[in-house]
Amino acid sequence: MPGLYVHIPFCRAKCGYCDFASAPGTAEEIDVFLEALTREAASYAALAGRFTTFYAGGGTPSLLSERQLEKFFRAVEKLTGPLGGLAEATFEANPESLDAGKAELLKAAGISRISMGLQASQDALLKRLGRVATSGDFLKAWGQLREAGFRNMNADLMSGLPGQSLKDFSDSLEWLLKLKPEHVSFYALEVHEGTPFSAAQVEEEPDAAADMYETGAASLKLAGLNRYEISNFSLPGRESLHNLNYWEQGDYLGLGPSAASYLDGERRANTAGTAAYVKAALAGEAIPAQYRETLSGRAKRAEKIMLGLRKTSGIELTDDIFIEFKEELGRLTAAGLVETAGRVLKIKEDRLYVSNAVFREFV
Ligand code: SF4
Repeated sequence: MPGLYVHIPFCRAKCGYCDFASAPGTAEEIDVFLEALTREAASYAALAGRFTTFYAGGGTPSLLSERQLEKFFRAVEKLTGPLGGLAEATFEANPESLDAGKAELLKAAGISRISMGLQASQDALLKRLGRVATSGDFLKAWGQLREAGFRNMNADLMSGLPGQSLKDFSDSLEWLLKLKPEHVSFYALEVHEGTPFSAAQVEEEPDAAADMYETGAASLKLAGLNRYEISNFSLPGRESLHNLNYWEQGDYLGLGPSAASYLDGERRANTAGTAAYVKAALAGEAIPAQYRETLSGRAKRAEKIMLGLRKTSGIELTDDIFIEFKEELGRLTAAGLVETAGRVLKIKEDRLYVSNAVFREFV
């Protein structure tokens, strides 16, 4: 089931920790980008009608004006057909750029799922992160989305933030759970080179983040949100179908700067530079690639394991995997990191947070 991902590389302001391809942009720059995106989408006309899920991410897709959103959906629907006919169509939003009008437009356009960044409910923490919206703004936007009829909504929370206590994290989660989200994602702070956080020598707090993760997972379980992937929790039947396809090594096409694709065994990603992307797309040239590789044999199977083991349902232990990775699997079982039940292999639930130790065996 191929998915279509579109990356919108614009945000109101850059958060201190962010290393995604995103930057503030003027209305004119967004217009030019949308023209480039329309051209890139048209170059994949041969794939039209094959997609079952859609995901608009970024950046901040909700930064687009209503007029720009209409142009955006026209370009996308040339590939997907009516968005309302897909198994799932997700749109990422941030509170500072959402209002009742846009919420209704998204609903009318056939968007079925919303993902919004909360990160924390303490405004002092949000300010330290460089986030534009306050928790009050989040509350208002969330209400507008509910009012517009959205019943499948995710919120992101961050852990291991500078100055964030375990209580801060638990309070944020409790605050969020009052809004009855169908889906919650956790992200531990990572400090990437080139970001303001890196320049300010902010340190990662992996131990604090691990405590927050375990405490949070327990609270979510009590609220009926099950962990189905290392960092993702949902009510039954509200798992992200688009993301599940990534973890199942399914095909997908990515459009926009930095967007990755996996089609017919080839992995590639577009250049992360918006200017280079726009220039190539408008000139009708191939978008420069950040990387391009074809996976086969052992590398492809190793990747299948690493992606699949992210899911709490694990992977099917097929004969080829068992034979090829017998030693690695033996070591991981002896170390108590994975377990096998019949033909299903999974990471033990209490070891999910240290899943990198499992993945290292397959790199
Ligand atoms: S809103 Fe998201 S994509 Fe935009 S700068 Fe902040 S973290 Fe990055």
